[in-house]
Order: sequence, then structure tokens, then C-alpha cells
Amino acid sequence: MSLQLDERLAETGTRFRIFPQPRFLLKADGSGPLFPEPEVVTVSVAPDDIQPGPADDRMFVVDAVNKLPYSRFFRPPYTGSTRPAVEPGEDGHFTHLDPAGREFSAATMYATVRRVLDIWEDYFDHRLDWHFESDFSRMELIPLIEWDNAQSGYGFLEFGFGRTANGTIDHTRPYCENFDVLAHELGHSIIFTEVGVPSNPADQAIDYGGMHESSGDLTAIVALLHFDSFVGHLLNTTRGNLLTVNGLDRVGELSDSREIRVAFNGKRMSDVGEQPHERSLPLTGAIFDTMVEVFQQTLVAEGLITADLRDRSTHLPGSAEDLDLIDADFAAAYRGKKKEFTEALLLARDYLGRLLAVTWGTLSADFLTYHDILRALLRADRALDGGRNQQIIRECFAWREIGPVPTSLLLRPHNLHDCGLSTSRPADDATRAVFPHGVTTAVAANASRKGRTTAARSRKT
Ligand SMILES: [Zn+2]
Repeated sequence: MSLQLDERLAETGTRFRIFPQPRFLLKADGSGPLFPEPEVVTVSVAPDDIQPGPADDRMFVVDAVNKLPYSRFFRPPYTGSTRPAVEPGEDGHFTHLDPAGREFSAATMYATVRRVLDIWEDYFDHRLDWHFESDFSRMELIPLIEWDNAQSGYGFLEFGFGRTANGTIDHTRPYCENFDVLAHELGHSIIFTEVGVPSNPADQAIDYGGMHESSGDLTAIVALLHFDSFVGHLLNTTRGNLLTVNGLDRVGELSDSREIRVAFNGKRMSDVGEQPHERSLPLTGAIFDTMVEVFQQTLVAEGLITADLRDRSTHLPGSAEDLDLIDADFAAAYRGKKKEFTEALLLARDYLGRLLAVTWGTLSADFLTYHDILRALLRADRALDGGRNQQIIRECFAWREIGPVPTSLLLRPHNLHDCGLSTSRPADDATRAVFPHGVTTAVAANASRKGRTTAARSRKT
């Protein structure tokens, strides 16, 4: 979401407080939570249009009593008993709620899902309809059931709690307050709406599965970069060096954050199998690297880092010594320039948000491959930015080993014989030949016998 729109919404929307990251993430010295205070966020719905729950025309919270998780046989809508709906304060906003209370958790769940939807509807530049709209008009949000798990399903999100070391329910870790988890699950809904599902039973949907998980994570990462406190923490810890390979040791305390662990991964296609979470990592890495490269491009353009530092800090791994030097150079460049680095990062964030929205909006789910996604990203970049970042995208994907699958027909050359253009009789010699690289030329009528022999030999290879 653009900064301008965010400022406008702050005047017209409804305010909530949410924690950017779970309260159980601790500072490295153990002295307390990494994000001790909730941050005020404004959702696009005006106070007059929000009902107790909280609820609006797209979603509503139901704090169910003694509810079992939904299953194949037990589906929404929930009709059992509920706790009272959470009411706004006298000013119409929900910032009055005590973070220690159950009502805070319920309001957080609504505000998180609504905020992430607002952010992505802005990037898509249109309303994101629910994939379950043929049955339900609104998404049912169930915040705190007695369950050591969470799930998103057809028409609902229902969340329980984390698990203690000995396997019991950990009531200090409600999933509904976990921004990353909620945003990731909403990302799945966005992909169901915008990309759909494979329609052919013969489609193994291996890359489709990886794309779904990657998209959930990217939905969350981009949304997370809308918290001032999170962006500040990320830049202060890394000094703007967002190089992802071997990056987890540089993000320090933030390395316990789920989305940061996913974004700062060094996996290539040859490192992963077909399990969707594992397979998502090279794709997420390639797309996050693209954002980092665009960020660095702006830093160079603004004179904040040198072109030389940018060249040295590509996503290609260097020696340990190089990485230390790069880190030191970033630290020197960042000193006193936090505001400028922040602006450059938010520009790159918004480029990525729009790029993904256009890309997802054009993908077909059927027999989808990562190579299709790469090409859709290149097309989206041409449509949005005149193709300014084509080479960045190509290089980030090449490093992750994402390209056409080895058996792809795209890789098969077409020689004259395949195209029915080769000469079999002397009388055919005076014709036109189309070469694989697209150059059209005339073949001399008196092509030498040696030339034809060479062509015949090359067909066999
Ligand atoms: Zn997922």
C-alpha cells in the first residue's frame, strides 16, 4: 500500500493495535519481548461501518464457546454459543483494548486480516473477491479455540494455540495474534481467487503447490514491511545490507521471525524436493532477492551506496572476507541515513507488491511451472515499469536454478528438417531457410555439396 493511501486511511479508517511479531519473540539478551508494544494500524473501514465483533461486510469475528475444529463433516457457519462481540471504544476505534485480555486477541485477528486485505487490494487495484463467494459472502474468523493448531478453509479461518515442549496447549501463544501466520493464510485465499486451482486430474501440481506456499509467505512479508517498527528493526540490524545468502546471522534477533527465516534462505532448486513448503523456498528467495536488488538500485541512484558496493553485494555468495567487508561498507553508508534507506526499501516493497499482483492476476493454475511464473514476472515488470528490472529478475531466478524444465519443448531447437524447409532435391535449393535464431536468409541456388552434407550431419546430433 502506498504511503499516500496509508496517510489518507489514517484520517478515515478505524484504528486498532496489533503486535507486528508475536510477543514470545525475545531480545537476544532475554531481557524482554522484541516488540513489546502493539503498533497502531488503521483499517480502511470507517468507524460507522464497523459492527461489534469486530465485523464488516467482508469478514466477522465469532468468539465461539467450546467449539471443535471444523472438519469434512462440520463446516461453517458456526451456530453454537458465542462470547459477547467485542465493542469499539467511545471514539469508535478499538485501541482501548487491554493487550492482556481475550477481547484484544479477537480484535487483533480482525484487524490483521482486514489490514492485509486492504494492502493487497491496493496493489491489485481492485476488490479481491472470496473464492467461497458462491456459499458465503463473508469470511468467518474464529480466534481462540482449544486446539494446538490452526487452519484456513472454505469460508473460514480458525485458530488455536501453539504447543508447549511437552505437547500440551500453550495459552501464551495464540495463533490469532501471529501476524505472519494470519497473513500467510490470507495469501492462500488470494491465490485461490486470482490464480484458481488446476482443473486436470493428470496435473501433479508440484510447482503449483510450491507457488501457493511461496505466495502465502510473500503476502505476509510485503504486509509485514508496512510496520514502521519492523522496518526500523530490520534496517538497524542489517545496516541496509539485505543480502539474503548467509543472511540469517545478520538479522540477529529477527531470525526467529518466521517470515524472515523464509525470506533469507539460500536454497536453489537442486536443494529441494517436491514437498510444497520446501519447494517454495527457491521461489520465495528469487522474488525476495529481486526486491533487494531493486532496493539497492535505488540506493545507488540516490548516491547512498556506490555502484561498486552494489556489484560486490549481489546474491552470489562471496568469501567470508568479502561478506565482512560488504557489511562494514553498508554500516558506513547507513550511518545517519536511516530515513533515506527506509524510503528506498518502501519503494522496493511497493514495486514488489504491484509486480506480484499483476503476476498472480495473469497466471493459469493448469500445469503451472516456476518458469511460467518467471515469465509472468518479466511481463509484469514490462507492463508496470517499462521493463526496467528485467535483468535483475533474470539473474535472481537463474541463481536459484529456476528456468524451463529440462524436458520443456521450449528448449527444443527446430532445424530445417523439422520445419520441412530442408532441401531434398536439387530443384529445391533455391528457397528460403529459416534459422532457429530467427534470421531469415536466402540459400544460394548453387549450394555446394559440402554444405548440404554438413547440414545433414548436424540434423543427426
Ligand atoms: Zn501455507
